[in-house]
Formats: sequence, structure tokens, C-alpha cells
Amino acid sequence: MTNWQCNKCGYSIKADAPPEKCPSCSNECSFVDNSCYTPDCQGMQSDPRIKKQNENR
Ligand SMILES: [Zn+2]
Repeated sequence: MTNWQCNKCGYSIKADAPPEKCPSCSNECSFVDNSCYTPDCQGMQSDPRIKKQNENR
């Protein structure tokens, strides 16, 4: 399973594939894979650094 996050509202969902429409903001936004693959964010399902990149845009 992959952790997906809406790049507009920040809604995150766990699924094999991202939904076509965001259930939270109803936009056809692109979902970002923010699953954590590194051991330094153990216990967390998403990588906070990826979220930060989106906020900076
Ligand atoms: Zn959204």
C-alpha cells in the first residue's frame, strides 16, 4: 500500500493507486506519493519532508 497525499488540500489516503478525484476537496488534483521509505521516520506513514516541499510551492 502506498500513502497518497492531495497536493491541494493535503488529504492523505492509503491505497494501491491514487483516487481519480480527491474525496476531500473534490478536485481532480494530483496525488503525491509521500510514503516514507527511509528508516528515520519510523512510526510515521508519511514523510514530513515531502509535505514541506508541497507547501513551499
Ligand atoms: Zn484534495
